[in-house]
Amino acid sequence: MTFANRVSHLEPEGAYEVMARAQALEAGGRDIIHMEIGQPDFQTFPHISQSGIKAIASGYTRYNPPSGLPRLREVIASYTSSRLNLRTLPEQVVVGPGAKPGLFFPTLALVEPGDEVIYPDPGFPTYPSMISVAGGLPVPVPLKEENNFSFDLEAFDKLVSERTRLIVLNSPANPTGGVISLGDLEHIAAAVKKYDCWVISDEIYARLAYDNLEVPSIASLPGMLERTIIVDGFSKTYAMTGWRLGFAIMPENLAERVSLLLTHSIGCTATFTQMAGMEALTSSQEMVDTMISEFQRRRDRIVAGLNAIPGIKCQVPQGAFYVFPNVKAFGISSRELSYQLLDKAGVALLPGTDFGKFGEGYLRLSYTTPIDNLDRAIERISEVLKK
Ligand code: PLP
Repeated sequence: MTFANRVSHLEPEGAYEVMARAQALEAGGRDIIHMEIGQPDFQTFPHISQSGIKAIASGYTRYNPPSGLPRLREVIASYTSSRLNLRTLPEQVVVGPGAKPGLFFPTLALVEPGDEVIYPDPGFPTYPSMISVAGGLPVPVPLKEENNFSFDLEAFDKLVSERTRLIVLNSPANPTGGVISLGDLEHIAAAVKKYDCWVISDEIYARLAYDNLEVPSIASLPGMLERTIIVDGFSKTYAMTGWRLGFAIMPENLAERVSLLLTHSIGCTATFTQMAGMEALTSSQEMVDTMISEFQRRRDRIVAGLNAIPGIKCQVPQGAFYVFPNVKAFGISSRELSYQLLDKAGVALLPGTDFGKFGEGYLRLSYTTPIDNLDRAIERISEVLKK
């Protein structure tokens, strides 16, 4: 069977492949510690779930506008305005089933075949996929450990040009946990203006930052809001991955085009899910704060544990819920090492290369599992690597 070119290069996300291998081992009686999937282990906070249930019972089960419920768009605009200290309007907000549509549809709306799109490598695998489906040319910029996994600005300067249509940023980042500094964002913004291109700023982990860090956004820099699509959502901050609810904020005329793409693809986002999202943004944020403190405690524990294993070097990530240790000293590919750690240590984690070729020599571990599991994982990894 032949398929259209635009889908021939698509591949599954690595996390699902590892999860399937891990589950096969579990079916055979093995005890596996899961650190491969990027979602909070917390349940959706009860008051949010209750509001979704109440919304279904109250009849919020019909179509709603493709860009989302007007009241939710208002709430999102004011939430983002105060988070980033700028002014966004409800008309600029597009709600979708998850953050992914906020990445995918603006890319489809902006990128012509042959346009170059710069994106981070290692980075979220959806970026090169959506660029290629749009007919664009994916141009990876390496993220380097020695730059705290911000952009490699020297490489960036060589890659950005008149051919660049769009630049994808992700801070805090999946898979590295790195945050792009204000200085680096200013450097990138100058190039964006010089070459008159667009930015997708994936800020899905912006609230999951540690040590009271305020994560800067390129959208807040002078003249950048009108060239930036801010992508955010409920999946990570509110432990709502399965509800499928996210949003993107962009100039109004682009939002109208994206809304048409939504109209003719998904139609609209589930109405009761949006009611739950409204509750998430307008109610007490105490449970989010508790979750963030717990992630910080786990981050500190796992970084210390990994760094105590001879041969592993692990930076302290500033955000998200991943660590990205350097395992080059073991002299085998990240993939081979990840298979060995699954088979021999019973720890499911991902090779850095699941996030692009510059991820070679690294592993990604999600600390979305209770702290005693982290301790057990470190013990088992240490045991296997000693041998
Ligand atoms: N962006 C990044 C960097 C992610 O890691 C993820 C999920 O893993 C998403 C976007 C997608 O979020 P959602 O599940 O809300 O579509």
